[in-house]
Amino acid sequence: MSATIIDGKAIAAATQLEIKARVSALATRGIHPGLAVILIGDNPASHVYVSNKVKSCGAVGMHSVLEQYPVDLTEAELLTRIDALNNDPAIHGILVQLPLPKYIDEHAVLEAISPEKDVDGFHLINAGALMTGQPRLRACTPYGVMKMLEHSHIPLRGAHAVIVGASNIVGKPMAMMLLQAGATVTLCNSKTRDLSHHTRQADIVIAAVGRAKMITGDMIRAGATVIDVGINRDEHGKLCGDVDFDSVAQVAGAISPVPGGVGPMTITMLLMNTLEAAEKL
Ligand code: NDP
Repeated sequence: MSATIIDGKAIAAATQLEIKARVSALATRGIHPGLAVILIGDNPASHVYVSNKVKSCGAVGMHSVLEQYPVDLTEAELLTRIDALNNDPAIHGILVQLPLPKYIDEHAVLEAISPEKDVDGFHLINAGALMTGQPRLRACTPYGVMKMLEHSHIPLRGAHAVIVGASNIVGKPMAMMLLQAGATVTLCNSKTRDLSHHTRQADIVIAAVGRAKMITGDMIRAGATVIDVGINRDEHGKLCGDVDFDSVAQVAGAISPVPGGVGPMTITMLLMNTLEAAEKL
């Protein structure tokens, strides 16, 4: 293996120390950052994500509230809860865990969260602010990737970044953040012709597709930086990313692993967003 490992766990730990210090500083102004997490239904993966988010709040000295509702909660009831949290001065960040039950309109729910408390960064106002170069609250996963690149001293200005996957929560905001940092960005989706033609030209490849090990060593230019956002299970049921770590690590200059890469950064940037929302008061 030739690649340097981009250790998301270590970068997350360092970033959380910084958050903790800023939380303490806010306490001197009488402000205690608070996050409210709403979970509907009994999706086991969502339960794990939510409990990790709440636990992490405690680790940095933040206040958190977990509201759990049965799967038959109506959209109107959910909107009423969001309205109450929008008006709760002890809450600075509101997160509604996705996916929602099918009968609830996800867009309506995300737009109901006050943009100032939208710590997932999914509200149209926050997405538009990022798009127009005036970022407010940023989507946590791409924000975390930016921190990883920064901590690893990967040059972005003038670099060619190829993002594989163009979702609203990862690929598109990732493209905007990299563009703003001065990178030249190629954004690929499922219709992209000859994907490896693009990835082979990249100084930085960000994989955010949701397909186990689809990015292989032959698709990567020697020395490139590869960030793996994907969370999948391989044929043995083992956690893996979108990147075939073994073959890519032979050619890449730097690579983030799964687990221990982007995952810990996503939660950390949720805390950062909650802190930033509280600091703006
Ligand atoms: P989505 O399913 O919403 O989007 C997947 C994207 O990949 C789409 O834009 C799709 O294209 C594109 N795509 C699908 N197949 C191909 C292909 N063969 N070649 C190129 N592009 C393709 O996924 P998410 O963005 O929500 O998540 C992506 C992955 O990241 C998942 O594994 C998810 O679990 C993980 N994830 C990890 C997080 C973390 O904290 N580490 C946080 C969020 C997500 P099209 O637009 O044409 O459909």
